[in-house]
Amino acid sequence: MTLTVAGLKVRLGFSWILLTLFLIWSLAQSYFPTSYLGLENRTYWWMALIGAAGFLGSLLFHEWAHAAVARRRQFPAAASTLFLFGGVADTNTEPPDPRTEYAIALAGPISSFGLAAVWYAAFEVGYRANFPLAVLGIFGFLAFANTLLGGVNLIPAFPLDGGWLLRAWLRRRNNDLRQATRRACLAGSLCGFVFMMAGFVQIITGHILAGVWWFVLGFFLRETAGASYYRMVAQTTLASMAIRRIMTPDPVTVSSDTSVQRLVEDYFHRSFHNMYPVMEDARLIGCVGPKQISAVPRERWAELTARDLTIPCSKDNTIDVDSDTEAALSLMNKTGNSRLLVVDGGRLAGIVTLKDLSQFLTLKLNVKPAS
Ligand SMILES: [Zn+2]
Repeated sequence: MTLTVAGLKVRLGFSWILLTLFLIWSLAQSYFPTSYLGLENRTYWWMALIGAAGFLGSLLFHEWAHAAVARRRQFPAAASTLFLFGGVADTNTEPPDPRTEYAIALAGPISSFGLAAVWYAAFEVGYRANFPLAVLGIFGFLAFANTLLGGVNLIPAFPLDGGWLLRAWLRRRNNDLRQATRRACLAGSLCGFVFMMAGFVQIITGHILAGVWWFVLGFFLRETAGASYYRMVAQTTLASMAIRRIMTPDPVTVSSDTSVQRLVEDYFHRSFHNMYPVMEDARLIGCVGPKQISAVPRERWAELTARDLTIPCSKDNTIDVDSDTEAALSLMNKTGNSRLLVVDGGRLAGIVTLKDLSQFLTLKLNVKPAS
């Protein structure tokens, strides 16, 4: 499920529905009845519903603050996937410098503490003005929830905001993004483990509901920390690798006067390449693939030549030898071409395929972080 709030795209996973239901139940059956005595059962359920909605709103506000700062710093996040204690931004690139990363990360907890202060103030005013207990209860819960949201997010463990701060700090010190991310993710994993253990201890000592919450939070932290690391490796290694290093150099080419008949028999039937660069007088003029061949009737194969079927070189099917793998991947994504001609000043240097990219990525991802 994807929501768009104030220009911020937010994804909610299926687990979120379960967690929200569990939150409502926890509030109605445990939190409100033990903190605000003497109300009707029905009232507790109403308070829980409004409280849970308020909590979701608080999370969105927190995420919105991150996004607003990111946008101001020319580093917009495409979307953000909400998890229990905030979101994980789905950005396509890493923040350009540690300073920007600090600012974006801090915006979340600061906004949550700010919101908590507003709810505390509302509680105080309401208390003096003799507001109904149920209303005070909701104000109190939202003050508490936002304080918790800001506080937990300051723990230096990925993907919590504190983890981003830790990473920015490490990156500033050692100037090594990958190592910094690895450490911040390890901290996340470890912190998740500690939370799960703490939850377990609470459960066996009888604090079942609180224990389950800590356990779930720990589990999410561990999962997300691992996934964040892999995604970062995928992004940075792809971005940093030059096409020159993973392309197939000196590919088999086809002369433009080759008949389509021969093209099929000698090239497409013999090797299993799906695209051939077409050359005319040692000059690259474009490429030809099975799609172009199947577009002409078989009877005409003898009279037509490769030149007739060639798709001319264009921005959609060529890429410069000095560009990086990320550029190749986004071009493939945009055009649907899984094979690109790699050119070096107009001259054919090689071919790069989606398979080359994915093999390269798989290789990188299998170099796992030590844990
Ligand atoms: Zn945050």
